[in-house]
Amino acid sequence: MAAAGAEAPRAWCVPCLVSLDTLQELCRKEKLTCKSIGITKRNLNNYEVEYLCDYKVVKDVEYYLVKWKGWPESTNTWEPLSNLRCPQLLQQFSSDKNSFLSRVKKGKAVTPKNSRKSLPPAVAEYIVKKAKQRIALQRWQDYLNRRKNHKGMIFVENTVDLEGPPLDFYYINEYRPAPGITINNEATFGCSCTDCFMGKCCPVEAGVVLAYNKNQQIKIKPGTPIYECNSRCRCGPDCPNRIVQKGTQYSLCIFRTSNGCGWGVKTLVKIKRMSFVMEYVGEVITSEEAEKRGQLYDNQGITYLFDLDYESDEFTVDAARYGNVSHFVNHSCDPNLQVFSVFIENLDTRLPRIALFSTRTIKAGEELTFDYQMKGMVFKNNFIGIGFSMTMKASQTNVEGKRNRAGGGHTK
Ligand SMILES: [Zn+2]
Ligand SMILES: [Zn+2]
Ligand SMILES: [Zn+2]
Repeated sequence: MAAAGAEAPRAWCVPCLVSLDTLQELCRKEKLTCKSIGITKRNLNNYEVEYLCDYKVVKDVEYYLVKWKGWPESTNTWEPLSNLRCPQLLQQFSSDKNSFLSRVKKGKAVTPKNSRKSLPPAVAEYIVKKAKQRIALQRWQDYLNRRKNHKGMIFVENTVDLEGPPLDFYYINEYRPAPGITINNEATFGCSCTDCFMGKCCPVEAGVVLAYNKNQQIKIKPGTPIYECNSRCRCGPDCPNRIVQKGTQYSLCIFRTSNGCGWGVKTLVKIKRMSFVMEYVGEVITSEEAEKRGQLYDNQGITYLFDLDYESDEFTVDAARYGNVSHFVNHSCDPNLQVFSVFIENLDTRLPRIALFSTRTIKAGEELTFDYQMKGMVFKNNFIGIGFSMTMKASQTNVEGKRNRAGGGHTK
């Protein structure tokens, strides 16, 4: 990873080696507020419950051990229930306690715990871990939404285990070219249609048909490239040939799967069939570099390497460390997303953008998946790629027909 490792750290991401507790203490001493570490004007002067850590009954009075927002754990105090005005946190505490107990007990009957004078240490420990996880995931969710530049919101949810946010993942909205690689984002051609549905529009100039119908659904076959209107075109933002460039419109949720597949992505709203869902972005590296990284990565890392083999084999997208929501989309042999390559500002056929479209109607709450190996993509030396000569299993399309329509330039 020499090339990547040698990169100088950016000024805005200098790591802070001081613990959160110490930072909070310093802030409090100096009477400074800092929202991102939880010190607000409100809790600088008043006490605010961050979460509840433990429970006991003394002389028939119920007490909860309180972690105060913006204060270190060493200042936690036991408070009688009558002092607490945090019904949601009490509810959370009790549901975490019950979920732990039901997991431990499995089949055994759970005896009511109300009569107990205190919680077993393992239960309290779990409750605190869960509370800390919730705060960390909320912070990560805030970060993702601050970074994203599209309409759809990003939610994060883990009701399955104690896994927190990934430690080495940075959200990006577009390709991040590695040093030495330039992506020319100034289109050299634009259309001058009055109606991009009718005119001699950008796709026609490129030798393909317009990719979308009037309902913003994709109508071309996988393997055919999408040419969208760009900044040189005379049409406005409402042009029907501007879809991928508007970004993800749907609210999506990165969630912990219960079947051992780690993180996954589900949609929180219904997605119409053949609709644009998200782009696949990452670092753009040379395929040579990808070869090197592929050897260093474990199996999981390798699946983030996506060959841009539309026309040449020069570049690969690596979404392992830098990516968007697509980083978390799982593989399925029966996927509901398929891959298309897209040209907008950049018309360099060595560097297509990758867009994921729905193959069918996707219900709210359904997990999104794409096939790392099929559906217009191929496995090649363990890498995934667009593989334009590949055919979709389900659609039984004629491979030669697609080649012709894509305008040649295929290596296979
Ligand atoms: Zn046009
Ligand atoms: Zn247009
Ligand atoms: Zn155009």
